[in-house]
Amino acid sequence: MCKEIRFSTRTIMTPGPVEAHPVVLREMSLEVLGQYDPQFRQIMRQVQKMLKQHFQIPNGHALAVDGSSRAGLEAGMYSLVEKGDKVLIPAYGRFAYLLAEIAERAGAEVILYEKEWDRPFLQENIIEKIKETQPKLVAMVHGETASGQVQELNQIGKYCQENDVLFMVDMVATFGGMPTKVEEWGVDLAVAGTQKCISVPAGLAFVAWSDRADQIIESRFQKELGLGAEARNERFILSNYLDLSQLKVYWSDTPINHHTEATNLIYAAHAGLRMLLEEGIDNVYYRHKLNEKALIAGLTAMGLKLYGNLETKLPTVNAVLVPKGVDANEVKKFMLDQFGVEIAGSFGCLIGKVLRIGNMGYSSRRENVLRVLGALESTLIHYGAKVNQGDAVQAALNVYLDV
Ligand SMILES: *Cc1c(COP(=O)(O)O)cnc(C)c1O
Repeated sequence: MCKEIRFSTRTIMTPGPVEAHPVVLREMSLEVLGQYDPQFRQIMRQVQKMLKQHFQIPNGHALAVDGSSRAGLEAGMYSLVEKGDKVLIPAYGRFAYLLAEIAERAGAEVILYEKEWDRPFLQENIIEKIKETQPKLVAMVHGETASGQVQELNQIGKYCQENDVLFMVDMVATFGGMPTKVEEWGVDLAVAGTQKCISVPAGLAFVAWSDRADQIIESRFQKELGLGAEARNERFILSNYLDLSQLKVYWSDTPINHHTEATNLIYAAHAGLRMLLEEGIDNVYYRHKLNEKALIAGLTAMGLKLYGNLETKLPTVNAVLVPKGVDANEVKKFMLDQFGVEIAGSFGCLIGKVLRIGNMGYSSRRENVLRVLGALESTLIHYGAKVNQGDAVQAALNVYLDV
């Protein structure tokens, strides 16, 4: 017989999932409502409204898709891209390749524009590439979780808006942790998730899109077989589950049946989004910046170096170079076993070279920052790395005591 699940409490300082906020966990354990219950419909309306606020897309459209963040990326890509469409994907980290993978499966002709991962692109370089390759869609990542770098988007967005190119952006690592001004930056479709800066367990993706994107999505609408005899649409979206034209109707006041909504996850999203507004969105961004400052102060005081360009560093992820002679996986395991603190490795060319400390959502708290620095220092000393002993926690503490 299996017993009830029990485990030790962890301090999660990875770039996702992060610790869920206690209020989120409480609200998601409320009883189940059916998806057409007017009480639930009201919750959906409010989630939609809060999504538009957080994405800063007052004139656009927004909803949640069931599935982790990449479900949102698939929904966006499948709904915008048709067979043979040219999609330009500038890559300065791992998650651009996920966009390429999805675009390829959606039937796109993918043009990858690659560079080293230590910094984002200059916007003018991407604009040049757009002129050269004439894509229908440019898809890229706002905050690159693998390398801890962030891309400026406003000029690319402006160029796309003025030149009839669509612009899709993965904002999974930045949404709720730093500004995501979808409309002002000229982004046509943006995607976020729950398990990063909004402190909700994984299981939903958020998608927001412009009127321009909506015209394409609407024009591809096809009613599901069995729900009434409707004409087929020869440009129908290739996924049923992630069809934004159907999901939009499902989320409307006159819904047509689609999937069974994960209503308890929607309560959780409501709580996560709402608490950011209660804290004040500028306070939320400031908290992430302050904890980032303390983390950097601590890591630097220890004698460690951060990977990549500091001017374009992503506040929600700290990519630390692993000191010589130390095994990244052993460090991770020792921290978890001895301190109950979880951090992450990286991907691709950064495997074994970089350890990543997240700074996201409910995990972005003073006590977590101090705890992860203490645990990391002890662990590195245990493995014989040369670090400045006893300086890290104090340096971080000084950042907090100075404000
Ligand atoms: C975490 C992350 C994803 C993947 O999200 P899942 O929820 O695991 O599907 C995609 N893009 C970025 C930038 C991320 O940080």
